[in-house]
Amino acid sequence: MSEKIKEYPGERIKTADLKAGLVPLIKYKPEAKYAWSAGIAMSRFLNELKNGRILASVCKKCNRIVVPPRVFCEMCFKPIDGYTYVKDTGKVNTYSISYIAADASRVKEPTIVAVIELDGASPGIGILHVLGEVKPEEVKFGMRVKAVWKPPEQREGAITDIKYFKPIREGES
Ligand SMILES: [Zn+2]
Repeated sequence: MSEKIKEYPGERIKTADLKAGLVPLIKYKPEAKYAWSAGIAMSRFLNELKNGRILASVCKKCNRIVVPPRVFCEMCFKPIDGYTYVKDTGKVNTYSISYIAADASRVKEPTIVAVIELDGASPGIGILHVLGEVKPEEVKFGMRVKAVWKPPEQREGAITDIKYFKPIREGES
């Protein structure tokens, strides 16, 4: 039968001992640098956002235009036939009203996260973004929306170069 150890031999290190230099101590700040490649198709997509254009990939065999673009078609597994541009207008495929920020804290003003089917892309193909200039209760499935871009000099080749999508109101194109 083993007895439960109640006390370990030796002495506990006190904070004061560390401060007084009585215990060997190494302070080290790791310089953790990393680089991440977005890949061929996604890099082109992000670079084109800087130019205010939305790039999509084309598979002629499947007759599909997909955004964001891929280097191969996930339906037929063949390399894509090329790239094309789709419009910065589209419709809300689905959406969600989020009261949680990126750091999981609760926010008062909700973010409306939506999948937007862009004009020119195949049906059902959408990108994830946020909606703006609209109240959560005003959002409808199929609602027409348009991208609101950052000014060209502020763009950095990120999906946030599009600030948000806003509803296309009556009389707007
Ligand atoms: Zn295909």
